[in-house]
Amino acid sequence: MEKTLVIFKPSAMERGCVGQILARFQQKGLIISGIKMMWLDEAILREHYSHLVEKPFFPHLLKAMMASPVIVVCLAGLDVVNVVRMMTGSTNGREAQPGTIRGDFAMSNQENIIHASSTAEEAVVEIGRFFKPEEIYEWKPEYMDFIYSSL
Ligand code: UDP
Repeated sequence: MEKTLVIFKPSAMERGCVGQILARFQQKGLIISGIKMMWLDEAILREHYSHLVEKPFFPHLLKAMMASPVIVVCLAGLDVVNVVRMMTGSTNGREAQPGTIRGDFAMSNQENIIHASSTAEEAVVEIGRFFKPEEIYEWKPEYMDFIYSSL
């Protein structure tokens, strides 16, 4: 089953909305395959946001992502990368559709609550960046047939 990476950013940690958002993913039928808390450092953030290092806002983004520990989650499900991106909404919270996580919880382009992998290929790399192989659990709950019965 496909997997994706979600990071609960310091904006989610500070505002205490991790539980509510994790509940949305579970309610949708996505499976938690890995979950842990960590404090990100500059090295991992430079790798993770390598496409943004030249941007003028990058130093501020670094600071924002290191403002508190984060919670990283690996979610599994059919088409999970796309499903989680749809649930996440546009980067800028002020432009994200109501009903999406950023649309419902964010008013900022930077402090936008969660990170979610953009593509299946990127997800594989990102899961490897934040988790050791033994921290990912291959399992599925018994109720899966009720969620994916007709695929
Ligand atoms: N970001 C920012 N200012 C911008 C664009 C992005 O601070 O003008 C931050 C924001 O936190 C965003 C992250 O950089 O989530 C990564 O940007 P990306 O374009 O990859 O967007 P995402 O995939 O997170 O929607």
